[in-house]
This record gives sequence, C-alpha cells and structure tokens, in this order.
Amino acid sequence: MQGNNKLEFLKRKVLVVGLGISGLYTARLLSAHGAEVTVSEILSESDIDPDILNEMRELGITLETGGHKEETFLNAEMVIISPGVPHDTVLLNLLRKRNIPVIGELELAGRLIDTPMIAVTGTNGKSTVTAFFGCMLENAGLRVFVGGNIGTPLTAYTAGDKKADYVVVEVSSFQLDTIETFCPFVSMVLNISPDHLDRYPGYEAYVRSKLKIFGNQGPGQYVILNDDDERLCSVNVSSGVTVLRYGTEKKQGRHAFIEDEKIRAFVDSAKPNTFSFKSFGLPGTHNLENLLPAVLGGLVLGIDNPVIQKTIDEFKGLPNRLEQVAEHDGVAFYNDSKATNVDAAVRAVMSFKRSIILIAGGRHKGADYAALAEAAKGKVKKAVFLGEAKDLLAASFEGIVPFSMAKDMEEAVAISFESAENGDAVLLAPACSSFDMFTDYSHRGREFRTAVLRVIHG
Ligand code: ADP
Repeated sequence: MQGNNKLEFLKRKVLVVGLGISGLYTARLLSAHGAEVTVSEILSESDIDPDILNEMRELGITLETGGHKEETFLNAEMVIISPGVPHDTVLLNLLRKRNIPVIGELELAGRLIDTPMIAVTGTNGKSTVTAFFGCMLENAGLRVFVGGNIGTPLTAYTAGDKKADYVVVEVSSFQLDTIETFCPFVSMVLNISPDHLDRYPGYEAYVRSKLKIFGNQGPGQYVILNDDDERLCSVNVSSGVTVLRYGTEKKQGRHAFIEDEKIRAFVDSAKPNTFSFKSFGLPGTHNLENLLPAVLGGLVLGIDNPVIQKTIDEFKGLPNRLEQVAEHDGVAFYNDSKATNVDAAVRAVMSFKRSIILIAGGRHKGADYAALAEAAKGKVKKAVFLGEAKDLLAASFEGIVPFSMAKDMEEAVAISFESAENGDAVLLAPACSSFDMFTDYSHRGREFRTAVLRVIHG
C-alpha cells in the first residue's frame, strides 16, 4: 500500500460522482480506507454491470443511480468526480463556495503517491508516448506502473501492494481540470490542437487545462515541450523547472531534434546523444515526433542509450492507431479509429504515399473539418462519410474531394473497397468521436476490421 500515513484525510463522508472505471477504483480505494462512501451515477441501475452493483453492496457503499440528487452532494465532506463528468456545473460550484473539496481521481491518487511520476498530456500521441515510455523503463529493468487515461486508473496503483520505481501516467485535459496539487517529476506536453470543444467554453479553456500539468512543478523537476507547436513554443513555465524543448528540426534552444536522419538529444549540452530511427516501426512523421519527448524523458531518468535504442527498434505501437489490418488485391486497409479529432486524421492522411480512400465521420465535437479537406486534396481520391457529422464533413469536402455517404461501417468499407485500385489504401480516420454509433473507439475499430474481413472473404 502506498503512502499509508497520508490516508487519514479519506476517513470521512466522500461522494464519488460517476461509476466508470475511474469511479469504481476510487470507490474501492476509499472504502478500503474507512471512508463512508456514496457513489452517484447518472445511468439507471439496469444499465450497470450486476457484478459491479454486487461489489458496491458488499463493500457497504451507498449507490444513487439514475441521476444526481442535490442533497447527496450537499451532504458530502469531499467529492471526487470522474473524468467523464463535467467539472463546472452549478452544483459543483456551489460545493466549492461552501468549501467542500471537489477533486478528480488523478488528484486523489497524486496525493497518495510518493513514487516519481512521469505524466504525459497533449491532444494526440499521449497513449503512444506513455506506452513507449513504459516499455523503455521495463527494458531498463525498472519496475514501472503505466496507467491513467491509457487504461488502469492511478488509484489502482495506490491501492495495490507493488511498489514501482516510476509511475508513467497518461493525463487527459478532463483529468487536469480537477487537479489542485498534482505534481509529476517529469511532465510532457506533446501538442495542442482543437478537440473536445463540446466540453469547454472555448479553445482557450482547453489550452489552459492542458498547461495545468506543469503548474505545480518546481526546482529539480522537468517539463518537456514540443517547440514546433505554436502554443507550446511560447509558453511560460515557473522558474526553477528545467524546460526541455524538442522539434523536428535543429533550432536554437532545442534539446532534441532530427538531423542527418538521426535523433540528436541531450539534457546537458556537454553530453549529446545520437539515436537511429532506421528500425522504428511506426508510420508517419508524427510518430517520429513522439520519439523525441520519450527519448528526452529517458535521458532525464538516466536510461542507458542502448536501452533507449532497443526500445526505438522494437516498439510495436498500439492497436487502432494507424494499424494495418489487411491487404487484399493490392489494397491495404488501415484502422486509425483513435483519430478522434481533426489533427490526428490530418496526420494519418499525411502518413501515406499511396492514394487513399478515406472513411471519416462520427460524433461531431465542434471542430472545423476544413484542415482535413485541405490535407486530403491530391491524396484522398474518394471519401466516405458516416455518422452524425457526415453532412458537416461533406460541406467541407464539397468541390475538393469526391465523396459518398454510408449508413454504417459495413457499407462504408464496401464502398471504399469498390472505389480502391491496386496500390491504394483504405483508411479509417474518423476525425470524430465514436459515441454516435459505437461504445468507444476500439469497438469502432473492431467493426471496421470485421467489415474489412467480410468484404475480402465474402
Ligand atoms: P491519445 O492518447 O492522445 O489519443 P494516441 O497515441 O492514442 O494518442 O493516438 C491518437 C491518434 O493520434 C491516432 O490516430 C494517432 O495516429 C494520432 N497521433 C499519434 N501521435 C500524434 C502526434 N504527435 N500528432 C498528431 N497525431 C498523433
């Protein structure tokens, strides 16, 4: 158990809002430490996994389902909200006015963890960099916990009895919205581009949320920033924090860059390092960009160069991120279901030398698709749109790239395959979230794969 002495503050009436994976782990942790726990969930009981309902009962947790009652909130002495729950509601602001602490699961875990943390945020690339970093530390023979937004919540680490040398945590903007003291040893901000505009009052609010990741850092700690990013290159960091900047080209003030087809990186300019990416298996310049902060982070932790090089050579990437699922009649099929925003879809399109048939669409999140239409010009020979955003996509592509509409994934794949010729790629890069038609992006990816196999094998 981590940081036992710090758990006293949990022994009171705590309300957990949201019973997703993060709420579930939080409720378990709190209950194990003597808190009087209530969970409030918007879904009705019939929509919740019966095993979870049983577990809540067995742990003596009070469960409120089908909505959030004001009095439940006002009765709490501390409220912990899940990343999926809007943090700025009238009710939560009322609690704050009454000095009832309202924090997120990341903040709670952060208060209990004394293992050094490496925290990764950004609009895109978080999971890839987090997973890469975890592999690198494992290759170095270190004990590592990898979690946060990538999968297992950080509270699982605080509740477990295995001590790691480092905790590598992927952090979303929603998680950063509800931190107060969260303070990693190394933080990374990979990039910022419009996303989740349906959840924020505007783009500036989203940017502010991302930058909170290093707001509590101080002397002896590190922040790693993408110097090619127009917002991050001019950002202010508190004095005393070591700022390491990276970009694809060599420039004044950069600690990592690409030069002569090699990665050059240093923390101390007197000790430069060179890495090859000849054997790196992930496609696209964006994945090469992702290597730079990971390499810098490795150097900060004193990881040996051969271990960093081995990780570059062997890292396989994650499913649903520009993942090739099949090749048939000279047509390659790529699943980039995790391209849930415009910039990720643009980067996917830019990764191909082949002509592309693009499948896009899903739930609209407020972004403008013009940049995708622009990137598609000359590269995408046909687009197929589906989901709630299909008309908006069509409006942006009109006159630039020919397109068709599809009612579901199966039809989208069938139209794409019909339109493709030997040497082309069929690319699913939706630029939208999946929640209009699927449970999540991995469900969408599975449906794509199934439809591809059906079209190939009949
Ligand atoms: P996240 O966890 O931030 O969503 P992932 O690593 O899961 O990031 O990748 C999400 C999507 O973004 C995928 O489509 C991937 O190909 C794309 N992507 C990965 N790295 C970058 C990057 N540095 N810039 C833009 N897009 C990226």
